[in-house]
Amino acid sequence: MRIGIFGGTFDPPHLGHLSAATDACDALKLDRLLFIPAAQQPLKVGSVTSPAADRLAMTRLLAAGDARMSVDPLEIDRGGLSFTVETLRTLRERWRGDSALALFLLIGADVAPTLPKWREPESVAALAEIVVLTRLGGSETPPVGRPLATRRVDVSSTGIRAMVRAGESIRGLVPDAVADYIAAAGLYR
Ligand code: ATP
Repeated sequence: MRIGIFGGTFDPPHLGHLSAATDACDALKLDRLLFIPAAQQPLKVGSVTSPAADRLAMTRLLAAGDARMSVDPLEIDRGGLSFTVETLRTLRERWRGDSALALFLLIGADVAPTLPKWREPESVAALAEIVVLTRLGGSETPPVGRPLATRRVDVSSTGIRAMVRAGESIRGLVPDAVADYIAAAGLYR
């Protein structure tokens, strides 16, 4: 099994996440891609996020259209600070019977430079191959991992939250189902 792991806060998940994940699935020939919403990002302590249940529900809506993709609540279920090294150990344990298991940790180019600040960065690199999602046509060379050129939709969760707060439409930046969820739940107002 070739499994991609795509972690994040996903507050909200958007088409930048989805297009990069889709490109990674194809390029790496992944059997499965797991979106793993963090309970609490260790490097973003202090920043307030939407309830985990909402982030989980929206990420499930994002993943719904591709049979390879699913959402794993293991970090939210574990609670506390979400250290990737613990998540990778849990996933290796889950598939310990698969001698051909290949885990790919997908991270954005903006996240790659923070890796040395993570808990046990060497263990992270030993437990999964780190794949850095770079901009198609760009010339970024990540400080860690292997670069993978993906389509880049210029959208961020921060930008989407600001647009909702300003009363602007976010159609086209997130799947319609996610936009409907945000409106119905009254998030980011
Ligand atoms: P925020 O704006 O709140 O910081 P974000 O949009 O960066 O959020 P996260 O949930 O923090 O989203 O990101 C999860 C992962 O997705 C990270 O590895 C990040 O680099 C990557 N990512 C974020 N936006 C994009 C995008 N537009 N294209 C590809 N990857 C992205």
